[in-house]
Amino acid sequence: MNLTADTAVRIEFDRDLIAALPASGPRYTSYPTADRFYSGFQAADYSAALRARPADAPLSLYIHIPFCNTICYYCGCNKIITKDQSRADTYLRYLDRELALQAAHWQGKPELAQLHFGGGTPTFLDEAQLASVFDSIRRHFTLVPHGEYSIEIDPRKVSRDTVLFLGRLGFNRMSVGIQDFDPRVQAAVNRIQSEAETRTVIEAAREAGFRSVSVDLIYGLPHQDTATMRRTLEQVLSLDPDRLAVYHYAHLPHLFKPQRRIDTAAVPDSSLKLDILQNTVHMLDERGYVFIGMDHFAKPDDELARALENGRLQRNFQGYSTHADCDLVAVGVSSIGKIDRVYSQNEKDIDAYYAALDAGRLPVMRGYVLNDDDVLRRGLIQDLMCRFALDFADYLPADGSASFQEAFAAEWADLQPLAQLGLLELDEHGLTVTPKGRFLIRNIAMVFDAHLRHRQSSVSYSQTV
Ligand code: SF4
Repeated sequence: MNLTADTAVRIEFDRDLIAALPASGPRYTSYPTADRFYSGFQAADYSAALRARPADAPLSLYIHIPFCNTICYYCGCNKIITKDQSRADTYLRYLDRELALQAAHWQGKPELAQLHFGGGTPTFLDEAQLASVFDSIRRHFTLVPHGEYSIEIDPRKVSRDTVLFLGRLGFNRMSVGIQDFDPRVQAAVNRIQSEAETRTVIEAAREAGFRSVSVDLIYGLPHQDTATMRRTLEQVLSLDPDRLAVYHYAHLPHLFKPQRRIDTAAVPDSSLKLDILQNTVHMLDERGYVFIGMDHFAKPDDELARALENGRLQRNFQGYSTHADCDLVAVGVSSIGKIDRVYSQNEKDIDAYYAALDAGRLPVMRGYVLNDDDVLRRGLIQDLMCRFALDFADYLPADGSASFQEAFAAEWADLQPLAQLGLLELDEHGLTVTPKGRFLIRNIAMVFDAHLRHRQSSVSYSQTV
């Protein structure tokens, strides 16, 4: 069975079906999901995995910068709001120390296939601070011309010159936070950002030779409706982004304190949110963007769309990617790395993060070691999320003792109603997700999540759409 996804398949938005199915589920940036990580996982477990990896294999690197200048009321991220630039100097000294501790596990300077600066706000750092992080990176890695080096940009704080500087440092991809251009929506979420300053950043990225520019939008914010979102989309599309991510806003003020500053009465209800999403999907489809999966869209010639087409698409903690099969080293407070069968998460509290490094320890807070069943299901869920298909032959017991249907009997039973609803097609060899099932891929992936199946605790997940 050929596990590539035809990007010419146009997404079908079946509003009634979407409304009828369970609305929350994991985003599967990892399997098992991060809520299964346990605190008994030690730095020694992570060190053992790092030491065991092939010395010449390329690596991905994630750098977390937790600081933001101001707070966006919708935000559920782990961040530190401050205007004190010197806090970043302290943080970068610890970041350098952590990188050195991690790099002590490998020989030489492995090739850096992928680099991502995320946050918080990576562009909280000034040019000297950004350059110092790159000095740290160059001490331990070899940057390569074909590497994918990306950074999350907040245009409110970034000039054309800074973008050109980022290009000279080595960045070649960026994702630009927009969320919404409507002035009333922006005021309600405390994120005032003009189209002009956003355009300056994107045009500078093109001038600097960035190969892909992605923009982030959010639907479900206060005062949004179909008309406001259409206007925002028109403005966004005039910027000609290579990729768009359209995230769902979950209003959970009991979980996220900043959201208490949002007027709940102004938040669109679920029916209006579906209308907004439906219009958004249709508009992006009409303009020729390919649905990649979950909440991501890309131009047909973008490498993400090409990766979907040729079966190379992957998923990791940063979302969809073309290099996520590399081991991922993550540095910084709260960051999550993946080395073969091991996930490891750093301390979420900055003082605990500093204290571990002061003691000469890796700041590991929790993690997870996958067993054989987890590894099998991780591959299976990856195939569903990134290829919209399964070849059962890839997931048969090694001793040939059972068919797929026997080995996954409970899952097989749970797939039948989804097949009857038209989300997928089954035959004796495999599973293919239909165009209308693609939008509900998380609901299909959840069938194979053994931890979700056996979960005793109640865990809150985000909306599947
Ligand atoms: S949305 Fe981004 S910029 Fe805004 S507070 Fe959260 S992390 Fe900071």
